[in-house]
Amino acid sequence: MGGNKVSKKKGLTRREFLRNAAIAGAAVAAGSVIPRSSASAQGAPGRWDKEADVLVIGAGAAGLPAAIEAVLKGASVIVVEANFDIGGHAIVSGGNIPLGGGTSAQKKAGIVDSPDLIFSDLTDWSIVQPNGFPDYRYNDRAIIRAFADNNVSTFEWLLAQGVSFVDKAPDNHGGTSVGNSAPREMHTAALAYPMVETGKPVDPTVQATTYSGVGLMRPLEARAKKLGVQILLEHKMTGIYRENPTSGRVVGIAVDNKGRRLNIRAKKGVIIGTGGSTGNVNFRMIFDPRLTEEYCGLAGEPWSVQDASGELAAMAIGASLWGTYNQTGEFGWNITKAGQIGCQYGYRHLQWMPGSPVFHLARATGLRVANWQDVILVNQAGKRFYDETAGQVTSNSYKSLDPYAPNSYLNARTIKYDPANFINAALAGTGEARNGGGPIWAIFDAEAVARERWNPTPPQVDIEAGFFFSANSIAELAGRVVMKYQPRGIPGPALEETVARYNSFVDSGKDEDFGKPKPLHKIQKAPFYAAWSTPVIHDSRTGLRINAKCQVVDLYGQVIPGLYCGGESAGGFSQHGLARCIVQGLIAGRNAAAEKAM
Ligand SMILES: Cc1cc2nc3c(=O)[nH]c(=O)nc-3n(C[C@H](O)[C@H](O)[C@H](O)COP(=O)(O)OP(=O)(O)OC[C@H]3O[C@@H](n4cnc5c(N)ncnc54)[C@H](O)[C@@H]3O)c2cc1C
Repeated sequence: MGGNKVSKKKGLTRREFLRNAAIAGAAVAAGSVIPRSSASAQGAPGRWDKEADVLVIGAGAAGLPAAIEAVLKGASVIVVEANFDIGGHAIVSGGNIPLGGGTSAQKKAGIVDSPDLIFSDLTDWSIVQPNGFPDYRYNDRAIIRAFADNNVSTFEWLLAQGVSFVDKAPDNHGGTSVGNSAPREMHTAALAYPMVETGKPVDPTVQATTYSGVGLMRPLEARAKKLGVQILLEHKMTGIYRENPTSGRVVGIAVDNKGRRLNIRAKKGVIIGTGGSTGNVNFRMIFDPRLTEEYCGLAGEPWSVQDASGELAAMAIGASLWGTYNQTGEFGWNITKAGQIGCQYGYRHLQWMPGSPVFHLARATGLRVANWQDVILVNQAGKRFYDETAGQVTSNSYKSLDPYAPNSYLNARTIKYDPANFINAALAGTGEARNGGGPIWAIFDAEAVARERWNPTPPQVDIEAGFFFSANSIAELAGRVVMKYQPRGIPGPALEETVARYNSFVDSGKDEDFGKPKPLHKIQKAPFYAAWSTPVIHDSRTGLRINAKCQVVDLYGQVIPGLYCGGESAGGFSQHGLARCIVQGLIAGRNAAAEKAM
């Protein structure tokens, strides 16, 4: 409260101005997500429909641990979840969780690790990727210290809540920006839970050994329910209330439940665990103006959305963003190369199958590319832009750098410069005065279909929504590629020239334009195909400014009393995925429960 008074004294007018600007910005950025008449613009309502000590927004990797921890610490808890089910991106994740620092699993495997080693790793200025981008340099030191100090207890806490890990030593599988010094990745077991992407459990013979986020989130859901946490599904938070529109404690939230508006009171605190911002075009363009509308195939959608609603609601009542470089820097899987083509949702580690409860939204499984020699990739102008076999930017994990000298300029000797610019070339655009690279299309022929053993018909490909086309000639194909993000089709002569030139490279054995290693197959046998292969957006690595207690901090550096945040909606921490979300959920839940009830 003291902090708030200070801000008031410093000048309410300016603060009010900034707050109003934030609300206006929020309304524009969110489009239909947060209505202009957002509850955030108002003070506390006269009537509450429900109340609890702690309100948690989002039942994902940060939200459910926050809820369980808060209830374990004696608070009553309501979780509001926009989706029809719990889980968020965490439930469709690979369940690879980098929690180290000296866990029981590390000790059992004889792995030496400590909180200090985690802290040193995740603040190491000297680690840069082969393209020159640093994973850890812009991390907030207080946030990382809190993370490091809570790793061991979080891992043991997960075990205590009934989460089962695959019985093996920690490794580095799936880790991105998780530290170089020790293997820390643990993997939750899928067990017999139905997988969200298929609607079915995995084969009983591999249930104990298959990694999946379902094995993290279903046990946490069961535990939360057993402890009396109320989980309100299809309840979307649309605004956060403070005592007064511009000041005071956070006292509750506004929620939309299928068109019905509810006001829910928080006696102790509100925790934002809404999962980030990558699905909000205007918001993500704050950090990277290239990320325009055509990047519509987000990892984790259409299961749950990352629409920045948490960030926007908090910003509307004064919150700041934090550590924004971590979103702009080119490392990790913030933006990925598509793995499945011919469908909207092409993230390579998540293939939607017809049994999934959201398959009607995903619409197609996509065609998995086994060998990028089988296709060429062209931009909206029908031109190739890079070696199709190239990968994407990397990130640091255990032994990525070997030898490794912590925080030392000596590491520069080990790092070999390699720009890895596939993604940048795809996002480069085609010379127009607009941001974004436009759609990227895989072009291939009937022989490629045979080699890859694809079945290029629905539901493998999404013809109806314009993510897949075929024709009997290249010129005809080019003209047919008309869809929301490619309104004028691909110029036919350009595509014909591209294919002819590529075929000549197959004859000569050398890709004169992009150095694809020995081009192997001509594109020559009808029918010809164009399949959506536009890069996929994945993580949010920036978000709201928080402190080590996961309290949200305003534009003046003051804590917003009663407001907490963790996970992908929180900023200041460059790391992919679950570990930071779970740890921050626990920290937020614990601290919110310890607040004095109003
Ligand atoms: C395919 C895939 C694979 C992955 N694999 C891994 C992996 O192996 N290892 C790893 O470490 N990380 C992985 N990740 C990343 C990891 O899943 C996420 O970083 C993590 O789940 C983020 O946690 P969160 O709590 O911030 O958000 P989420 O887990 O996404 O939860 C946010 C929840 O908030 C809800 N919500 C959003 N807005 C509102 C609102 N306004 N009102 C109410 N509810 C709202 C959402 O519906 C969602 O349920 C993967 C992600 C994907 C998509």
